[in-house]
Amino acid sequence: EAKRRGRNTWQMFNPVLARNLSDRLLIESQLRRALENGEFHLEYQPTIELATNRIVAAEALLRWNNRHLGRIGPAAFIPHAENSGDIVPIGAWVIREACRQLRAWRNAGLPVLRIATNVSYRQFLNESLAETVRAALNEFDIAGASLELEMTERVLIDDIPDTQDTLAALRGFGVCLTIDDFGEGYSALNYLRRLPIDGIKISHTFMQGIPTHRADSAICDAIIRIAQGLGLSVTAEGVENEDQQRFLVDRGTPLAQGHLFSQPLPAAAFAEFFTQWNTRRPER
Ligand code: C2E
Ligand code: MG
Ligand code: MG
Ligand code: MG
Repeated sequence: EAKRRGRNTWQMFNPVLARNLSDRLLIESQLRRALENGEFHLEYQPTIELATNRIVAAEALLRWNNRHLGRIGPAAFIPHAENSGDIVPIGAWVIREACRQLRAWRNAGLPVLRIATNVSYRQFLNESLAETVRAALNEFDIAGASLELEMTERVLIDDIPDTQDTLAALRGFGVCLTIDDFGEGYSALNYLRRLPIDGIKISHTFMQGIPTHRADSAICDAIIRIAQGLGLSVTAEGVENEDQQRFLVDRGTPLAQGHLFSQPLPAAAFAEFFTQWNTRRPER
């Protein structure tokens, strides 16, 4: 287990931040107190329904601002939090905060349909995940269907005990379960029919070459068709230009996210963006 964890962790380390042990220890010691010091916040990136050109959801992305280390992106610190186990309370905070924000928007009259959070495989090793979700939904009076949990393929492929039970419990609350960064990792296809998944998000790494790069286009095309065949929802991530959008629309891709529409935004900016976008005349 240590070896497996170690290998995966090192792959994901930001080479600049974690080049040496002292950097790593500094990050881990700062991370340990980050929650109680209130150093985290969430930013929200809109998800666009391509057929209607409406924002239907927001993905919450974790942001860490530390007084010694500055602003650190999640790709650089989440592997450390996974390694230390701190991701469990941090991840629980993310779920609760996202639900709190969704409730606040709705109370302010903003009809955001769904909010998505990223869940680490490490949170599935801890039996409290389903209870964390249940409590957050309950506290903020959010229907399960208004919450989406994004997990990587690793959750499904690693044989984590009780994962199936946890997924079933989450499903029981009506929560949407999606696979993030689909295609980036192991991409075994058999779990797609075995496990109770609602949708997949195509890794932004395949979006970059669209439409000119033949392999990227073929892979995206295939992923979209597999999802459609299985009755799964598809979100294209990292959509940056109109050629990519056209490619997706031509193939009937339901959902998209990316800088073409908006970067992740702080909550207040998201609310403003949402209102402007959804009240203007749809272009298509
Ligand atoms: P992700 O969940 O796949 O999120 C998408 C990432 O792509 C985000 O980076 C987002 O800012 C970025 N992005 C959005 N649109 C575009 C685009 O058009 N082009 C490009 N090049 N990038 C785009 P971010 O916020 O740095 O997050 C990186 C990763 O960190 C996330 O990837 C997710 O795996 C992880 N992460 C973020 N928040 C959390 C969290 O609360 N918990 C856990 N466990 N992981 C998180
Ligand atoms: Mg995600
Ligand atoms: Mg992704
Ligand atoms: Mg990712």
